[in-house]
Amino acid sequence: MGSSTPHGGAARPAHWGYEGKDGPEYWPTLNPAYAACGQGKNQSPINITQSAAGDAKSWKFDYKTTSLKIAHHEHVTDIVDNGHTIQVSVDGGSTLTTERGVYTLKQFHFHTPSEHTIDGSHFPMEMHFVHQSADGRFAVVAALFQEGEENVNLAKIIPHLPAAKGAKADLPEVRLELSFHLPDSKAAYTYMGSLTTPPCTESVEWLVFRDPVPASTAQLEAFASRLSPSNRPVQPLHGRVIGSRTTVNKVSR
Ligand SMILES: [Zn+2]
Repeated sequence: MGSSTPHGGAARPAHWGYEGKDGPEYWPTLNPAYAACGQGKNQSPINITQSAAGDAKSWKFDYKTTSLKIAHHEHVTDIVDNGHTIQVSVDGGSTLTTERGVYTLKQFHFHTPSEHTIDGSHFPMEMHFVHQSADGRFAVVAALFQEGEENVNLAKIIPHLPAAKGAKADLPEVRLELSFHLPDSKAAYTYMGSLTTPPCTESVEWLVFRDPVPASTAQLEAFASRLSPSNRPVQPLHGRVIGSRTTVNKVSR
């Protein structure tokens, strides 16, 4: 990309990326609106230690089916600047309920390799379900992927992956069962963090499923060849406590 000349006005966010002069260590300097990326004390992602323990309250998922509306974004999306990712917007009606309230699922997207680490280890891919409350707060649910058997849900998405950045596909005939993207075991870690991309907004409720979900080597490569690298390095905990949760999965159709 070209030199990072300052952009006037807030309408056009500064370019950012994952490598070189646009990389994560420079995000706070690219735009004053990205200050939290450098100064924030509650940033994501983080390393999770398996011994992390907390109170076991439950989060409730009510995920419905959606059509497939997919885009490979370079910049701003409808709700979050996700930078270099492949994002699937979802139909309305899927919700997540936590101790802090009800959130509506807006979209999901992918990072390769994983952003969160467990006991210091990355996974080949991480999927983020981005939810927003009526008053604008975010909750993000993360599923980690490991190499294994073919993933039937990714198999529905991969044939429609946009060939180039900026490309979109709207496929009303393709139906995704959103809850099927979640692992069988609903054990999970929770903590308070941030968006992992500029502007690194804080007060985001995070839930990271403990157990990874499988995907084949070819499937993981299909995403990695388009996205890698797209992970922000892990951030300091600054005294934050990681809680454990058992989620409740209500499947409705
Ligand atoms: Zn993400």
